Amino acid sequence: MSSLPDRLLHPTDEHAMLRATVRQWARSDVERQAMAHDQAGTLNVALLRKAGELGLHGVTIPEADGGAGLDATASVIVHEELAYADPGFTLAYLAHALLFVNNFYCAATPAQRARYLPRVLSGELVAGMGMTEPSAGTDVLAMGTVARRDGDHYVLDGRKTFITNAPEAGVFVVYAKLDGRLTTFVVERGFAGFASGTKIDKLGMRASTMAELVFDGCRVPADNLLGIEGGGITNMMRNLEIERLGLAAMSLGMAQRCLDVMTTYAVERRTFGKPIADHGQIQRYIGDSYARVEAIRALTYGVAATVGPQHRNRLGTDAAKLFAATAAKEVADAAIQVLGGYGYCAEYRVEQFWRDAKLIEIGGGTLEAHQKNITRDLTRPS
Ligand SMILES: Cc1cc2nc3c(=O)[nH]c(=O)nc-3n(C[C@H](O)[C@H](O)[C@H](O)COP(=O)(O)OP(=O)(O)OC[C@H]3O[C@@H](n4cnc5c(N)ncnc54)[C@H](O)[C@@H]3O)c2cc1C
Repeated sequence: MSSLPDRLLHPTDEHAMLRATVRQWARSDVERQAMAHDQAGTLNVALLRKAGELGLHGVTIPEADGGAGLDATASVIVHEELAYADPGFTLAYLAHALLFVNNFYCAATPAQRARYLPRVLSGELVAGMGMTEPSAGTDVLAMGTVARRDGDHYVLDGRKTFITNAPEAGVFVVYAKLDGRLTTFVVERGFAGFASGTKIDKLGMRASTMAELVFDGCRVPADNLLGIEGGGITNMMRNLEIERLGLAAMSLGMAQRCLDVMTTYAVERRTFGKPIADHGQIQRYIGDSYARVEAIRALTYGVAATVGPQHRNRLGTDAAKLFAATAAKEVADAAIQVLGGYGYCAEYRVEQFWRDAKLIEIGGGTLEAHQKNITRDLTRPS
């Protein structure tokens, strides 16, 4: 039950219909498989393909190119609704639909779009994005992966790590330095000199997978340069904004889920002759959590309304993800506390949401990176 105006959450009938469709799917098919994949640490590839059949991989892609022709608010709606049911699966979806599809689309030529878009929009080809390296995450410009031109190919050498969807993906957007300048390439799994490493185990978001990408003299056709030589920073920065909104929206979905679980439980669970919802200390958890959920929602949807291919809002997207990440983790923590021993165990899934929520404080920019960016923007001489 949100107190925010409908025009912010659903600016058009299309947004409202999108939410209804995704919610219906998320709370049936996505919900049903979530716990098993969290426990097994596996990606449900068939479900990611199903998301393609539902048109969810192209939410931000123009209709003329096979997408839904919607905007950042629509992307936020999808991430919020999916994360309510399965945050790990939603992270795999984000890596595919935003880190690859949206990123690729903005920089690709018509010929590149024709070659890759149909298969990634349908979900036939799973995709990912390789930026982070074993020795360079936040300090991304210190990356060591290099590219050199060799006839009608580029040759890539280096390693990427923590790459979501790496074990399953068939194609990646990859950043490397060409003559010291950050440049973007599209790398297919079958290219000579490319390999992905073994799956990296992790605390949360276990329904998505990750691994290293290894480039050992990897031969990339010159046609697979994405954008221009030295254009990597532009591609990266443009896409980071919508990525951060997607991650903030995931925090919102997780926080809303934890609030719903704790509220229902507090009415049903009785101690000392009354529902625990009647105890003031429990009311504090519920009241504070509701305020946090509404604050995440207001900031995330408010900023989403300002972001588009031609409209940048770095300050807003940094702020939204910075606030949403920790607020959602705190709501998940409160849910565990309200449920007591049941909260610590798997049945109600709030322990999973607590593990999953922690990732948003690290992935797509750490809390410290957002604080640094915001301070830099606020202190820049006007
Ligand atoms: C589950 C998961 C999925 C991911 N998926 C992807 C993916 O698909 N593709 C991809 O490219 N990457 C991915 N990442 C990588 C992620 O974006 C990085 O982990 C993140 O950017 C942080 O980089 P790092 O781990 O190297 O930490 P570091 O940069 O080494 O930071 C370590 C600590 O130092 C702090 N720190 C660093 N610099 C500063 C500074 N200047 N001032 C203050 N503090 C500082 C950081 O905030 C952090 O607390 C994923 C990570 C995880 C965990």
